[in-house]
Amino acid sequence: MVEKSFPLNFENRVKNDSYLGEELLESLNGISPISIRFNPSKKIPSDSSNNPTIQQSSNPIQWCENGTYLEERPNFTLDPLYHSGVYYSQEAGSMMLAKVLSQLELDKGPKILDLCAAPGGKSGLIASFLSEKGLLISNEVIHARSKILKENLIKWGNSNTVVTNNDPKDFLRLPHFFDVIVVDAPCSGEGMFRKDIDSRNEWSEENVNLCAARQKRIVMDVWVSLKPGGYLIYSTCTFNEQENEDNIIWFANELNAEILELDFSPFQQDRKKAGAYALPNLVETEGFYIAVLQKSADSKTIKLPKVKQQSLTRIKDLKSISQFSKTTGFEFFSWNTIVFALPELFVNEIKLLQQEMRIVKFCTEIGTLMRDEIIPDHALAMNSYLLNFEQKIELTKEEALKYLKGETFPLDGKKGYNLITYQNIPLGWIKHIGSRFNNLFPKEWRIRMKID
Ligand code: SAM
Repeated sequence: MVEKSFPLNFENRVKNDSYLGEELLESLNGISPISIRFNPSKKIPSDSSNNPTIQQSSNPIQWCENGTYLEERPNFTLDPLYHSGVYYSQEAGSMMLAKVLSQLELDKGPKILDLCAAPGGKSGLIASFLSEKGLLISNEVIHARSKILKENLIKWGNSNTVVTNNDPKDFLRLPHFFDVIVVDAPCSGEGMFRKDIDSRNEWSEENVNLCAARQKRIVMDVWVSLKPGGYLIYSTCTFNEQENEDNIIWFANELNAEILELDFSPFQQDRKKAGAYALPNLVETEGFYIAVLQKSADSKTIKLPKVKQQSLTRIKDLKSISQFSKTTGFEFFSWNTIVFALPELFVNEIKLLQQEMRIVKFCTEIGTLMRDEIIPDHALAMNSYLLNFEQKIELTKEEALKYLKGETFPLDGKKGYNLITYQNIPLGWIKHIGSRFNNLFPKEWRIRMKID
């Protein structure tokens, strides 16, 4: 049981709110559930005998088909499958986004913006929902956090995700561009008071008001980039009305938008029929709020800016690329010496993004051009839709962890580039040079903890 007390004003608010009540406070002093979401683009190994995460994963989360609870928290860092993007550790409440997305009426290839996206839990979920159809623009305003977002989306391995590092108001430059915008807004975090006890110290009435005002600004800034008839999914991990239903009702009035009544079960409908809450005393989650607004279809059409001269160069001769990557359905471009695969259906949109936004990840980086040779990139190893490379070396768990630490060790194999796998799932590249190998696992993502 958690011992620490709650901020007094928060405690009084919750006690005096008949919708929330004492039971909520009691549950916030209990034990946090643990959950993960599997990656449908990567096969879960059938042999789970030495994998405590996979062994425990038989308790599904009813609102997200890839989600499951775990009985206890394994050490994810020590599981090579975590590094190869087979699953992501995510709070169960936020997986309600899967049920919400499945209820929207969308075209076959929607463009979705995840505006406040780092570290990338919801972006991974959206990428799996899109399943290579459509385009995900995953944005994070804080530069250091956009790098973590990039890492997590590279590991998740979809071909249709772009990461940007922009302020919400920059999206004014892309009017009527998106079919869906997800705003998982920075908030006062009351729903995390159990999982992150120290966050209780940061709570104040003043901060609630500041958060509510900032959320208003964020949504107002990005609204113009939503298509007429498009959806804005708004979520927070807090319980107060100011940041949640009051904001949603304010947006609906200011923006002439409709608040959608979707099936959010088993979450609780909120106090004012504007969205739903995951209350930890009623469902096995942390606290979470989610609501959906639909933009009116009769908004005036606004033209997008024209794509001007680009610094991207289309690669026509695909011989060196096809040694490593599938090529159908993609166009390949170089930018300086880096080669990217862009889904052919979205090349124009991505060029426009390059012109107007600060891009951190351009769909999939295939590799770096060195004379006529390509040095394959880690992103290609992670992407099961593009990867097409036969020369593989399967590692034991012990070897895989050494590889993830950036070590090199005796290893049989053919000279040249080899794809390293663990339980047949790609982990990264090496370059074998006969007596030893160069470890090409990205330096900044290496495991730093001591293993034995
Ligand atoms: N959606 C993420 C996920 O599922 O992993 C969690 C997002 S977190 C709740 C909110 C994010 O909003 C943080 O990454 C934070 O850096 C970002 N943020 C903070 N201030 C912001 C602002 N003024 N505009 C846009 N995003 C902001």
